[in-house]
Amino acid sequence: MPRPTRGSQKAAIKREEDDFDEVKASKPRQSAAAAKRKADSEPEADADSKTQASKAVKKRKGKGKGDEEAMVLAERTAVSALGKAMYIGAHVSAAGGVQNAVTNAVQIGANSFALFLKSQRKWSNPPITAEAKNGFISQCKEHHYHANEHALPHGSYLVNLAQADKDKAKQAYDSFVDDLDRCEQLGIKLYNFHPGSTGGDTKAAAIKRIATQLNKAHKATKTVITVLENMAGSGNVVGSTWEDLRDIIALVENKSRVGVCIDTCHAFAAGYDLRTPETFKKTVDSFNEIVGANYLKAFHLNDSKAPFNSNRDLHANIGTGFLGLRAFHSLMNHAEFQDKPMVLETPIDRKGADGKSVEDKQIWANEIKLLESLIDMDPETEDFRKLEKELQAKGSDERKKIQDQVDKKSKSAPKKGKAAPKMKKEATSDEGSD
Ligand SMILES: [Zn+2]
Ligand SMILES: [Zn+2]
Repeated sequence: MPRPTRGSQKAAIKREEDDFDEVKASKPRQSAAAAKRKADSEPEADADSKTQASKAVKKRKGKGKGDEEAMVLAERTAVSALGKAMYIGAHVSAAGGVQNAVTNAVQIGANSFALFLKSQRKWSNPPITAEAKNGFISQCKEHHYHANEHALPHGSYLVNLAQADKDKAKQAYDSFVDDLDRCEQLGIKLYNFHPGSTGGDTKAAAIKRIATQLNKAHKATKTVITVLENMAGSGNVVGSTWEDLRDIIALVENKSRVGVCIDTCHAFAAGYDLRTPETFKKTVDSFNEIVGANYLKAFHLNDSKAPFNSNRDLHANIGTGFLGLRAFHSLMNHAEFQDKPMVLETPIDRKGADGKSVEDKQIWANEIKLLESLIDMDPETEDFRKLEKELQAKGSDERKKIQDQVDKKSKSAPKKGKAAPKMKKEATSDEGSD
């Protein structure tokens, strides 16, 4: 059984602490480092990161095949060699063009991957180039990725399909359909996006607007399946309950064009427990009953830095958060979840020697192997307990910190049930993002 090295996770946790400290005084959506990482992961990022990306590619190519292999951080596991067909990957960078996402996935040993199809910060983007398109298709072929099954693009954060304002709704729709069109050009079948925000309107009205936009988008495209991601937040956020997702789907005319992606961190933060085999079963059963198992298309695999039902969206490295390793053991051994993309969105930034934030993709490479190692692992063994304990120890400071914040908040403004509008809170580096 592969046993990953996990030393680098400590650095990632440290990075998260630093980020958190940086932003808690004010209320930016994300830290500078997180924003930079996001921008850098976009296919059409600014000139700066574009140059960096092409430099990196050149460096790889320039040194020949041997070095290209040397940069692989982990070999991909053959899914056929796993006890269950779990396609685990991460949300990789597409800086310099979507074709680079494929090599970035190979680098970390991913069997599935997520990517942005265009810049997340701009409304208008140049069309996909022939080079990027052909490169993506040929790279997928070369590396045996089935883009139609195991690539899961992530929608733009700018887009809110529940937007009530007519002009803004059109802008959102145009960007959304443009993404769907890009998927179809690339042979991608699944497209993940956040349902949206009510903007203060009723939930029912927002849901109706989302479904109307989806119906229109389905007619404007041919094959791509629009995959709703469950959310962590409360208040104006649409999609934090199975009922929200069910209600959107109910209004979608072409049911074959809609699905759901479960984000484990979001589910847990929204009050769906997964920590024990019993609560895991209860949550899965409730999803199947309310939404329907046939709509489940993909996963975002994230542990949670925030406690259960806190409605806070703070991704933690696998096993280090409040969910813990046992939740992921249940997930990796749930046969019904086979053959779906399972994408990590866990933190990988850490402080480099010069004090600047750097990405450590080894963290993802290790987490993929860690998750794969859980398949058919006996959770009652000493080995499992040791691993579980080690990972929990790594995340303990961070968990305590967020727990304290949540406790303080609930003291000053006791939560009155799930539907109660939430007090404005400080956003942190990852909050409300992936
Ligand atoms: Zn998230
Ligand atoms: Zn997610």
